[in-house]
Amino acid sequence: MMIPFFRPTKPDLNALEEVIKRGDYVSGKDVDLFEKEVADYLGVKYAVAVNSGTDALVIALECIHPPKGSEIITTPFTFWATTEAILRVGAKPVFADITDDFNIDVEQVKELMGGNTWAVLPVHLFGKPASFATLSIGDFVVDDCCQAFGAKFDYDAELRCYSFFPTKTLGGYGDGGLIATNNKHYAEDCKWRRNHGFVSKHYPLFPGYNSRLDSIQAAFLRKKLRTINKDIQERKDIAAFYDFNLTSKIGKPDLKEGVFNYYTIRAKNRRTLINHLIFSGIETKIFYPRLTCDNVHTPWDLEKVPNAVKATQEALSLPMYPGLSMQELYQICDAVNYFYEKGGKK
Ligand SMILES: *Cc1c(COP(=O)(O)O)cnc(C)c1O
Repeated sequence: MMIPFFRPTKPDLNALEEVIKRGDYVSGKDVDLFEKEVADYLGVKYAVAVNSGTDALVIALECIHPPKGSEIITTPFTFWATTEAILRVGAKPVFADITDDFNIDVEQVKELMGGNTWAVLPVHLFGKPASFATLSIGDFVVDDCCQAFGAKFDYDAELRCYSFFPTKTLGGYGDGGLIATNNKHYAEDCKWRRNHGFVSKHYPLFPGYNSRLDSIQAAFLRKKLRTINKDIQERKDIAAFYDFNLTSKIGKPDLKEGVFNYYTIRAKNRRTLINHLIFSGIETKIFYPRLTCDNVHTPWDLEKVPNAVKATQEALSLPMYPGLSMQELYQICDAVNYFYEKGGKK
């Protein structure tokens, strides 16, 4: 029996039925309520639900109006959508290298900041919040929190972007995303942009998007939000189990602060390990390889981001989601440990 990389929890079908009875499929009652509840949970004044984490990034970046060709500093070691969003709004991604925890190196960000810098876009990868406490307030920060729902951050960002893609910590049953902000002006702007740029009925101020959240997704997400603290605790418990039981021959993530959207190790002989794990009935994922298309648009200066290059060669994400059984966790740890202790150098 295969242990899949991700196993969706069963949706609460009552939520679906209520929406279907009402028929308010787009921007309905559940979307309004979800926005209020999620803003409360995140401790922000405004939450604007959109169609995906990617749209959240694009819309948030449009709100801060980067001039054409201005620079936005980000990490190269992330999902392509981060870089894509920067390119989409006509800005230029500038890459700072990462540190051991896979997150952007704030010291390098400071060094890269110059006259052309318009904003900084940190990514809180795998659920570990990047530390930006030492960056001076006043710098534009747009946060990619797509993997960090429920994490605590040590600084304020103008706009924080979340994803409800099924594998994310607060995962829906389709696409979904959110922009969180304390700034009323940005919240309003995001709401216009997600709805064709309409500032009122039949009055588009600019071309926006059709990027509203479906009520069905909002209804599911409202139900899941109620158990999110328990779900995050379960993820942390699984991380602690991995940390205790996995061999010290792999690199393990720090247990502090992370909400563990993914549990990502550093593995030597990664390709052989992946095959060994498939053979042992365990599915893993490489987050993230270097993308060829990424390199065409935004080539990495390999000498400037050696840690990111290394991470693309070593990082391997293990199954991490509520509902993994003890037996499955032992099976995963045994298979990894066996590889390094008995068969690693085959
Ligand atoms: C998932 C993800 C996104 C994109 O979110 P979607 O909802 O899939 O569009 C962007 N950045 C990071 C780091 C992500 O993990």
